[in-house]
Amino acid sequence: MNEKRIENLIIIGGGPAGYTAALYAARAELEPLVIEGFRWGGQLQNTTHVENYPGYVEGIMGPEMMTDFRAQAERFGTRFITDDVTEVELTDGGIQTVKVGNDTHLAKAVILSMGAEPKRLGIPGEMELQGRGVSTCGVCDGAFFKGHDVAVIGGGDSAMEDSIFVSKFADKLTSVHRRDEYRASKIMQQRARGKDNIEFLTPYEAKEFIAGDDGKIAKVALENAETGEPRELEVGAAFVAIGHKPLSELVKDQVDLDDEGYVVTQEPSTKTSLAGVFAVGDLVDSTYRQAVTAAGTGTKGALDAEWFLRDMPPAPEEHWGTQTGEIIAAVEGAST
Ligand code: NAP
Repeated sequence: MNEKRIENLIIIGGGPAGYTAALYAARAELEPLVIEGFRWGGQLQNTTHVENYPGYVEGIMGPEMMTDFRAQAERFGTRFITDDVTEVELTDGGIQTVKVGNDTHLAKAVILSMGAEPKRLGIPGEMELQGRGVSTCGVCDGAFFKGHDVAVIGGGDSAMEDSIFVSKFADKLTSVHRRDEYRASKIMQQRARGKDNIEFLTPYEAKEFIAGDDGKIAKVALENAETGEPRELEVGAAFVAIGHKPLSELVKDQVDLDDEGYVVTQEPSTKTSLAGVFAVGDLVDSTYRQAVTAAGTGTKGALDAEWFLRDMPPAPEEHWGTQTGEIIAAVEGAST
């Protein structure tokens, strides 16, 4: 089925940023349409206890929190399509086109909130033991491993950040990196090296996460990157901190991206290089990446979109023969 309605606002992506943008936009009576993706909820769908989101005094499971976010946006009239956007045709201040398979949706404004995903090592046990001691977020999960020996894998600032945070809880933390030289900034390395319970182990590559009898991680199998010498570390948790990949493929040739693929915004706003197209959440943020910071930028995106729409001239009508009319005609043509 093809759509002719011109939405005020389409939000692409259903994580904390997208749902918060939808909540604000719905309360502003913009009747937002969220195309949330099959994997709605984003990274929080793979997260167990969330204890650092303000307001949830006792903590909450990640998927339950996303269900709450979604329901709150729905309460004010947000509509959802639980499918993946397959293509976008973004314009500079004109009508935006968002396709889901054969369905075409038009909007005056779009908020991009497709998020990011942690990079994976791609080794045995990594996915199987996710939530059973293997984590991609030390700041989220570190506190669950008080008194354990743990490993953090990676040599960048994220690995240092995770190591510094997790070392507050761990008995002993081994920082495993595949090269002798760390990529992390000097200051972050110094901070990590200043911790008594962090040991640095290089140049080692993680080859496998091995479960114990209880089904939780028990060991990390390592291999010396230069000599091939195998080695095992007994751990209660392993944190994979080798960077994130923004999910910007959909828009890569249409809005400005930085070298890492994050969408560039005109800070402190959420404006992208195209008028009427805004970007929020982990799609623009390589540094903080928390549910609460993503939700905060979702708010900014909704307000930016609301202000943009307020200043926009009334939607052109089909018989005016404008760009909108041409698009509608094309969509109607495609459906016959
Ligand atoms: P990053 O700088 O790209 O570092 C990724 C690290 O993971 C590198 O050391 C890399 O090793 C390693 N790695 C990648 N793939 C691997 C694999 N398959 N097996 C083993 N190791 C692998 O990513 P990041 O640390 O997430 O940082 C991203 C950006 O955010 C940076 O600009 C950083 O400064 C910023 N950031 C800042 C802070 C802070 O200042 N507090 C905190 C977090 C992030 P190689 O070095 O061998 O390539």
